[in-house]
Amino acid sequence: MNKEILKTISVLYVEDENDVREFTSKLLSSLLRKVYVASDGLEGFEIFNENKDDIDLIVSDINMPKMDGLSMCEAIKKINTEIPLVITSAHNDTNFFKKSIEIGVSTYAMKPIDLYQLIESIIKAMEPIILKKKLIELNLSLESKIEQEISKVRSILDAQDNIIIVTNKERITNVNKKFLDFFGILDFDKFVNGEKNIFDFFEEEFGFITKEKIIEQDSWIDYIRNLHEIDRIVKIKSSLNEEKIFAINVDYYENKEDYYVFSLTDITKLKEKANLLEYQASHDKLTGLFNRNRFDEIYSKEIKRALRYNNDLSIIMFDIDDFKLVNDTYGHQTGDEVLKELSKVALANVREQDINVRWGGEEFLILLPQTNLEGAIAVASKIRIAISEYIFTSHNLNITSSFGVSQFLEDDDETKFISKCDKLLYEAKKTGKNKIVS
Ligand code: GH3
Ligand code: MG
Ligand code: MG
Repeated sequence: MNKEILKTISVLYVEDENDVREFTSKLLSSLLRKVYVASDGLEGFEIFNENKDDIDLIVSDINMPKMDGLSMCEAIKKINTEIPLVITSAHNDTNFFKKSIEIGVSTYAMKPIDLYQLIESIIKAMEPIILKKKLIELNLSLESKIEQEISKVRSILDAQDNIIIVTNKERITNVNKKFLDFFGILDFDKFVNGEKNIFDFFEEEFGFITKEKIIEQDSWIDYIRNLHEIDRIVKIKSSLNEEKIFAINVDYYENKEDYYVFSLTDITKLKEKANLLEYQASHDKLTGLFNRNRFDEIYSKEIKRALRYNNDLSIIMFDIDDFKLVNDTYGHQTGDEVLKELSKVALANVREQDINVRWGGEEFLILLPQTNLEGAIAVASKIRIAISEYIFTSHNLNITSSFGVSQFLEDDDETKFISKCDKLLYEAKKTGKNKIVS
């Protein structure tokens, strides 16, 4: 769509690999109005600073010497909060995705660069900006000229890849084709007269802007605008019942206080990827329990919280008895199945706020906030019995585990608390197994 807008765009392209930079910048130059080229973040930032009035968009690599791409983008955003950012990267880690959403990266094109995809990303990222420019150029007076201008506005709106909604304080006055397609609406006038507010479309879900939150505000427009970029997201269901996540931008329309333009950029893929990577980085692959990385973060916080509010905090550590025998007799795969099932059995016997961790190979840890020793022993007993009574699918196996249970005491610290529990578990093993020592 809209390839002609490319000829109006001037881009800063930052890439440290010589071959990639030369090849891509040549191609971009043939399509765009102008391409500024830099070979690292620092140079990119300097060029931006010198040409900030001319540069419409940033295309940047992440890993670069002197200053990395995201830091550069962050610095540039401080100068121009609206400039669209397109990131090219082979990067795949959670921090990258989290940070890129935080900074407000519009789109990203994975390396190796597919030029077609890159161009699509550039167009998509530029749309809200171009839309705004055009609306200003048209200098519309919505109140008086709405009838005659509406088709002009509509054609501009329809050219957008984002969902666009024009509204006055009370209700929707105009939307683009993307909106109608998304909601499967055939008759716009009928829809508008249905008095729907755009908030009615927002799903009520934790972590997203919801109608409930908005109606609590004195000025919802300021509320949305003041939200951090990473929180300015909504979840909306399409007519086909597809849930999509959108980054939402609100602008005053033509400086008329009562009119606003919402632009909704679909970031479902970006968000899904960020969530997935975040999940993978914090959970054990086999059992789905928290891994130790994530536990370390939670653990420090829980200890601080227990100390601050003088709350109880306990730990259960348990280890499967003679698990080596299971592996040796039935094979590693059966061992894996047992670990998975056993995790579920344990999970079924704890509260939602308890933190379940795969501590080691066949060793587990449960952190129990607001629980004293007695309470933790009761939980451990439930788990011990549940495991010993459970018949594992594979080979109808019967398995037991040994437990150490301890409570955080005044003179404990992070290390001591765990090693205390570890020793108790060791004692349970030494003194007969399938038991709890506290
Ligand atoms: P004890 O009762 O003293 O705990 O004896 P044990 O045999 O359970 O303990 P040991 O530490 O000697 O052996 C642990 C075994 O757990 C050895 C290791 O191969 C197995 N194991 C650790 N992680 C995994 C895993 O992810 N999958 C499978 N199948 N086995 C694992
Ligand atoms: Mg064991
Ligand atoms: Mg062990």
